[in-house]
Amino acid sequence: MPHSRHGSQALDGDAANGIRVVRHPVTGQHGLVALRPFPAGAVITPFGAASTHRVPNYLSVQIGEHSHIELLPQMLQYLNHSCDPNIFLDTARMEVVALRDVGAGEELQFFYPASEWHMAQPFECLCGTAVCLKRIAGADTLPPSALQRYRLTDFIRSKLGQRAGL
Ligand SMILES: [Zn+2]
Repeated sequence: MPHSRHGSQALDGDAANGIRVVRHPVTGQHGLVALRPFPAGAVITPFGAASTHRVPNYLSVQIGEHSHIELLPQMLQYLNHSCDPNIFLDTARMEVVALRDVGAGEELQFFYPASEWHMAQPFECLCGTAVCLKRIAGADTLPPSALQRYRLTDFIRSKLGQRAGL
């Protein structure tokens, strides 16, 4: 993903203590890697909102029906998707947390439908994990059976409750 024009240098500096942007030597794709181990449940970095939008874009994270934030530190825009994620964006506490033990040098990956109901730019997933869901377009396109293994934001859980008529 390209650089955002918004941002806070201070937050970027803080996050750089534990995570770093890398560029894949073959694909050229950017990603975020852990510079040190983080145990399951650890807060990897707090985050904030660089900007808030009423409609999603390819950098934004959904926090409400018409509320989509671009993240600070800016490096979080390089979080790639995996259908077998190792981090979660806790939009209630505004923290990136480790879902399981993360080793030094391991790429940090987020399950995009954990926060996105309708995605601005759906894509065919190439994560290659055994649990890959292939087409990633938002939580609204996935059955409960596919979502139950994931930690989901409060917003997505409320949308699933509405969909189920709860
Ligand atoms: Zn996948």
